[in-house]
Amino acid sequence: MKAQDISREKSAELFEKAKNYFPGGVNSPVRAFKSVYGTPLFIERGDKAHLWDADGNEFIDFCCSWGPLILGHNNSEIREAVQAQLAKGLSFGAPTALENELAELIISNNKYVEKIRFVSSGTEAVMSAIRLARGYTKRDKIVKFEGCYHGHSDSLLVKAGSGLVTFGETSSAGVPKAFADETIVIGLNDKAALEQVFVDFKDQIAAVIIEGVPANNGLLIQDKAYIQFLRDITKSNGSLLIFDEVITGFRLGFEGAAKYYDIQPDILTYGKIIGGGMPVGVYGASAEIMGHISPDGGVYQAGTLSGNPVAMAAGIAALSILAQPGFYENQEKTTLAFVEEIRAFIAENNLEVKIFTLGSIFWFAFTSLDKIQSADQIEHESMGKYKIMHRELLNRGIYFGPSGYEVGFISAAHTQEDLSTTISAIKEALLIAF
Ligand code: PLP
Repeated sequence: MKAQDISREKSAELFEKAKNYFPGGVNSPVRAFKSVYGTPLFIERGDKAHLWDADGNEFIDFCCSWGPLILGHNNSEIREAVQAQLAKGLSFGAPTALENELAELIISNNKYVEKIRFVSSGTEAVMSAIRLARGYTKRDKIVKFEGCYHGHSDSLLVKAGSGLVTFGETSSAGVPKAFADETIVIGLNDKAALEQVFVDFKDQIAAVIIEGVPANNGLLIQDKAYIQFLRDITKSNGSLLIFDEVITGFRLGFEGAAKYYDIQPDILTYGKIIGGGMPVGVYGASAEIMGHISPDGGVYQAGTLSGNPVAMAAGIAALSILAQPGFYENQEKTTLAFVEEIRAFIAENNLEVKIFTLGSIFWFAFTSLDKIQSADQIEHESMGKYKIMHRELLNRGIYFGPSGYEVGFISAAHTQEDLSTTISAIKEALLIAF
């Protein structure tokens, strides 16, 4: 495979223009390519597993719009469902049968939720789940884990520093100290920290929130015993357990990480895949807990575009395909074969890099460790290697997320040829990175 530096002339021009309109030239920070080489690529179109940028470069895409595109780009069933709905109307601000249909697909295939509410993003879903937990328990404090991302609402933009428990240290300007004071951050996979937090804040913790399988700061696969401990300690202290399954929901299977661990959380949040590429979020729980949401209960939550009919139509088309027998087994098999071939190459060449994988998610970690289960185990200096790998992959027509902390996704649209091309490119890129 021959590598040449791709032309970014048009993308660079568009980026300069975008800087006149948007802070940093983008509408979501990581898109700015700050931690990799070059300017961001402005994308013109996608089809199946492929993307084309404004300069006409073609890429095999493993970012998949950060997860939603489990069926790849321009899936014909989703496109036709969206087109059919477009002819009927874009938004009514009133109930539609489509909402029932998508809810039925979700609830009948997922024993962990009895009732749900549609919102328009993962952030909204988590924000609403937190309010519900607070309203339900009549407590204010929330415990989150270092390295877990739950969207950009105030209570959750709080980070951990060193030490057992970080309390009230925000990671974004503009988050009031009083809000941050209600969020306690502890490390993942640390039972003692969890025990301590329930001693220090006895009867004050509304909920503990965790990403089903943490996948926003590397892929930090937790042991079942730890998650079971988390389930037990929340229950015995009258706190709710929230699984944020915005990435893992419908990616590991319809029942996501809850099924993977075989654990019933109290509230679950979803997003990404359920919208088939359109903006949708969901939060759900038992009928009893969801009964606390307005108009029946006192916890208020609303949305002009919630349950948007075009998004519902896209979601129904997507989930109908995912519900077919064998879909997830195939995804997992394909991903494992892809990862195994690269792992063999890594072993032959004695490279200090690992590939962690679950379902159709994978993450390259430049580490000597065989397991990474908490954010503090990630070697930040090693991101320099990812930066080189990322550039070399782009030069070979492979599009990975523009940060080494991000995971990659394999979609059903990736062909064996796409994957073989990618494996060859990864081998070359790794040798250059080392
Ligand atoms: N929760 C998790 C686990 C996520 O990965 C994300 C986004 O990546 C969110 C919440 C926020 O979702 P959104 O970007 O749709 O607001």
